[in-house]
Amino acid sequence: MMSLNPIVKLLRRKELTKVLYQNVYQYTRDTSLINSFKNVGLHFSGSSTIPRHIRTVCSQRFYSVKPAAQKEDDSYRNEHNVTVIGDEIPSPYTEIDSSGFPDYIKNYLKKQQIIKPTVIQAQGWPIALSGQNFVGVAQTGTGKTLAFLLPAAVHIKETQGRKGRGPRVLVLAPTRELARQIEVVAKDLEKLLNIRCVCIYGGVSRNSQMADLQPGVDILIATPGRLNDFIVSKTVSLSRCTYVVLDEADRMLDMGFEPQIRQALEGVPLERQILMFSATWPKEVQHLAKDYLGDFVQVNVGSTELSANRNIEQLFHFCDDYNKLEKFKSIMHNISGEGFGKILVFANTKKFVDKLTLMLRRNGWPAVGIHGDKTQAQRDTIIQKFRSGSTNILVATDVAARGLDVDGVTHVINYDFPNTSEDYIHRIGRTGRQDNKGVSHTLLTSEDERQAKNIIAVLKEANQEVPQDLEDMARRYNSVKAYEQQEKYKQRQNSWNSNKRWNKFRAPRQNTKFRY
Ligand code: AMP
Repeated sequence: MMSLNPIVKLLRRKELTKVLYQNVYQYTRDTSLINSFKNVGLHFSGSSTIPRHIRTVCSQRFYSVKPAAQKEDDSYRNEHNVTVIGDEIPSPYTEIDSSGFPDYIKNYLKKQQIIKPTVIQAQGWPIALSGQNFVGVAQTGTGKTLAFLLPAAVHIKETQGRKGRGPRVLVLAPTRELARQIEVVAKDLEKLLNIRCVCIYGGVSRNSQMADLQPGVDILIATPGRLNDFIVSKTVSLSRCTYVVLDEADRMLDMGFEPQIRQALEGVPLERQILMFSATWPKEVQHLAKDYLGDFVQVNVGSTELSANRNIEQLFHFCDDYNKLEKFKSIMHNISGEGFGKILVFANTKKFVDKLTLMLRRNGWPAVGIHGDKTQAQRDTIIQKFRSGSTNILVATDVAARGLDVDGVTHVINYDFPNTSEDYIHRIGRTGRQDNKGVSHTLLTSEDERQAKNIIAVLKEANQEVPQDLEDMARRYNSVKAYEQQEKYKQRQNSWNSNKRWNKFRAPRQNTKFRY
């Protein structure tokens, strides 16, 4: 070993290690050889020619902050329906005072009047502080933002970053609304810890965002499209970034952002920690985790299947297209009679959002509308008005379906049923947050028959009564489906029979095998 030292020192030089790595792998394809180099303290820097399964190296970064020790006691996890998968999983921080956080974080939590961690925080914080890659499968509204932002703050404060102006922490979020929401929480930390946070997203001019990035940034919150633009134009470099968060990973993949996410992760050094949060755990998210996280600890809070919040009473109204608007008005009258905090109304098209908003205003309900055709400034103002309560009826397309965290939403109305039952769960989840009760009203017409089966499953899972009309809808759809299938089968049978008859009169096939 002693005699190896000068050679190892020589090989540690960056260029030499790169060449050696490529050659060793290219010619031998022997990963064990690479590992033996690592054993003598030789680590290889990333290169695009290095195969993916070797590139998912994760450094074990232990801060001066101590993660909780591993205890055998699983009572907290059992009580809160938490399952953990992985090795060396530290015990949850059940109390903030006894957590391993430094005083500046404890003070911050006190200032925010946060006295107890949520479940994902209790189990997520010690894992994130232990430096391990982490996957958290939990619904939105469970306190995920602080689950990743507080360890991010510790990461910045307790580790020495490389020189440069690029971010040390990157948070990727699917929508501008969610990115802005994370920014609000990050800005509180900015003042307290003297760090810089910048949020970049599409739909607004790039110039002001470029100017914001100019002096350097610690935490960059970004939507994948705009980040990609800035990476390509070399406005942002991720070479300093050692802590990456993928928030609502399932939604980002649903929205088709996989190439942009992968491109961003390619620019991040191999010595990094990745935290991925997702409401569900589908195959696409699993592949992404496998490709970029290598070894990771997974924490599931509740089921990994999306399920409706049990604090929400789900009500359904059955009508036809011609009397749908009248039905909607009568629901609004009933809610107004009972009294409400805030109402969020969902429609599937931008045009209908505008139409409903206008109708509500004309009938004395001061509503505002939001959809993808509004400018970012308009969207921000509208959300702000709704958040502050200066207007308490918001009509929206699915831009407001996920992640939007507004206090006091007592009712959600689905004027149209969304494309999938998953979207339905996200929409109604805007009410009943943080242990409050909520009510959802959903209008259904014969057009929605194909969804009936899925809605029944959602209701049953949430232990709610299934209306007879919904059962009837599902039955009708099943019998129509069965009839259509029968017809298709008959058609296929007929065409096969007619082909057979025709074949009888065709000249026998020539044997063309030896014609040439
Ligand atoms: P999030 O899932 O991050 O959008 O958080 C949902 C809401 O829960 C936000 O309004 C947070 O301020 C709030 N919150 C986060 N963590 C806690 C906590 N430990 N105790 C009470 N409220 C919290």
